[in-house]
Amino acid sequence: MNLKDYITVVEDWPSEGIKFKDITTLMDNGTAFKYAVDQIVEYANEKEIDLVVGPEARGFIIGCPVSYSMEVGFAPVRKEGKLPRETIKVDYGLEYGEDVLTIHKDAIKPGQRVLITDDLLATGGTIEATINLVEQLGGKVVGCAFLIELTYLHGRDKLDGYDVLTLMQY
Ligand code: AMP
Repeated sequence: MNLKDYITVVEDWPSEGIKFKDITTLMDNGTAFKYAVDQIVEYANEKEIDLVVGPEARGFIIGCPVSYSMEVGFAPVRKEGKLPRETIKVDYGLEYGEDVLTIHKDAIKPGQRVLITDDLLATGGTIEATINLVEQLGGKVVGCAFLIELTYLHGRDKLDGYDVLTLMQY
């Protein structure tokens, strides 16, 4: 199955010059969505993972079916002010300015083997911040899985030493 057939590339959205990769047309197709999730499960099966962690919002869309299929938990990483209990946080750089990501302090036990999921690897800032949170809590990042990688943005350079799976490259 060619998964790219199910991605819609939207030119100049949300701003001029951006080619937005819309995954909702993949999610819309049950066979394609299952195929994509199964590829990630197959990759993660060899890694004896204890927990899946994903940043909002599209990291949930990919991570939750993976965790369900593997019968392991899922821990959400969210923007500041969204999680109700005690959190730890990380500041990370955006194209313009800074943002903050948080995770519940008790979401990960030291030594747990963690798979991180997101829809798309662009500059790598989001995944780098998510790794930081997992490691602050003593988790071991044993893999990072994405549907899509924008190779021209070199996000992988930030992931040196980590195992990375991407199902489609642009
Ligand atoms: P980054 O932190 O630069 O790797 O950006 C990652 C996040 O931004 C991903 O979770 C995507 O949801 C979103 N993103 C960045 N660029 C695009 C794009 N061209 N199309 C769709 N989503 C994007």
